[in-house]
Amino acid sequence: MNSARSLQERVQNAFASAPQSASAKIDPDELAGSSADTYRDLDLAQRVAAIRNIVRGRVVFTTSFGIEDQAIAHAIFTQALVIDVVTLDTGRLFPETYELWARTERRYRHRIHAYCPDSAGVEGLVIRQGINGFYTSLEARQACCATRKLEPLQRAIAGATAWITGLRADQSDERAATTFAAVHPYYRLIKVNPLFDWTRERVLSFIREHGIPYNSLHDHGFTSIGCAPCTRAIAAGEPERAGRWWWEHEHKECGLHRRRDAEVSVQPQADAATGAAEP
Ligand code: SF4
Repeated sequence: MNSARSLQERVQNAFASAPQSASAKIDPDELAGSSADTYRDLDLAQRVAAIRNIVRGRVVFTTSFGIEDQAIAHAIFTQALVIDVVTLDTGRLFPETYELWARTERRYRHRIHAYCPDSAGVEGLVIRQGINGFYTSLEARQACCATRKLEPLQRAIAGATAWITGLRADQSDERAATTFAAVHPYYRLIKVNPLFDWTRERVLSFIREHGIPYNSLHDHGFTSIGCAPCTRAIAAGEPERAGRWWWEHEHKECGLHRRRDAEVSVQPQADAATGAAEP
């Protein structure tokens, strides 16, 4: 095992080397076990480029077109990194989100691959619980998220070595432990969060500085945007994710990023093999 110092040097060198350089690759477990301090001094473009340079195999970035995802997409597209940029089209997104999706493709001249729910799965879901059955119980809501989000996600990240997300640690208590990289035992890949230590204000500043397109709903009190029937604007002083599944009081995750037992943040010497399978 290389020392943390040598890893830091290689990460620092990775973004400076030629794009997609094969010479800078490191073991995925080494990436997941590395200290978050290794990456703190890198800007966003450097962090994303470093991920591509040091990870072997397919790297996937899932965007839901929030401000964090738009910032990461900008970093990927403007550096022409070989990273698959994909989205999960639940079929229930806001018109404004579809408009932003098209605008983003035009801006960067790059198609964003949509993964849609299995049609038979959606038909069965709607027969069982109705078109808006997710309002009736936590179980019904989770069943909808499983059908419209989790199943497409599993296809989107199949075969990937690393999965890039826009998670920030200060988005919610549930995300407070988010670090730069962690092993996801269920999906058997490295989940990388290049904005783990950024604040919402810093992301907004980055968006403004680079003229990055963003969802117009953000100008109307929508701080976190998901499916239309499950998202509302927040009032002043409410937590950032209070508008998601607002009729539920505790659950503010759809399952894509819930830590539960399925994801274990790995620090050096930690055991990455622990953790139960995701249902
Ligand atoms: S956020 Fe709402 S509409 Fe979207 S998949 Fe989950 S329950 Fe279904």
